[in-house]
Amino acid sequence: MKLVELHSVRHCYGKLQALHDLTLSLNEGEVLGLFGHNGAGKTTTMKLILGLLRASAGQVSVFGASPQQAKVRQQLGYLPENVSFYPQLTGLETLRYFARLKSAPSVQVEALLEQVGLAQACKRKVKTYSKGMRQRLGLAQALLGKPRLLLLDEPTVGLDPIATRELYAMIQQLREGGTAVILCSHVLAGVEAFIDRAAIMASGCLQAEGTLSELRSQVGLPSLIRVNG
Ligand code: ATP
Repeated sequence: MKLVELHSVRHCYGKLQALHDLTLSLNEGEVLGLFGHNGAGKTTTMKLILGLLRASAGQVSVFGASPQQAKVRQQLGYLPENVSFYPQLTGLETLRYFARLKSAPSVQVEALLEQVGLAQACKRKVKTYSKGMRQRLGLAQALLGKPRLLLLDEPTVGLDPIATRELYAMIQQLREGGTAVILCSHVLAGVEAFIDRAAIMASGCLQAEGTLSELRSQVGLPSLIRVNG
């Protein structure tokens, strides 16, 4: 069974058609890189998979069911592009708060803080965290409830090269543990090593899809995507 299947999906925001007949799938345990310039439709695609938007036409299926169903949503983790936290809460309080919202077991909180390298800093207020630390806290939040599928929307925007490498190393570990991931990005640099397939979007359409070596030989990746940041 495919973990995610989008078949001829269209999405309109009023008169603006953001997605045009998008057909895309994800296999169990796979990391899919979703690439494209600003406005290509990456976030809209993620929101349809998350059940935050409904398709104007076509079918979206996640774990063989509609993403509107609570049992599907419970198995999804999401790190949005601009994650915001209460600045006065500590990292620990923040994650406990999200654990309650998601009905995730509280025992996961400390293990996740350790996993994302925030165990030492978890009693500090989030307002004192660097951007990289906030993104790692965002990743921990997305991992509450041990999701089967993790959706990451441009998780390294604004991060310096070290923080970017740290975050990618964490995603790579998750992949090794069998978590499926959809990762949106503008650039390929840094993710080549761990994505299984890439889907390249432009103006709401899928331009190309396949493994990186397929895309390199068939269509010439640099013409479709910024290879470096
Ligand atoms: P970016 O890299 O800038 O985040 P993206 O590839 O994620 O872009 P989307 O955010 O999915 O692209 O946007 C696709 C199109 O839909 C764009 O033209 C955008 O302006 C439009 N759009 C997105 N959200 C809305 C909204 N809530 N209302 C109206 N139009 C929207």
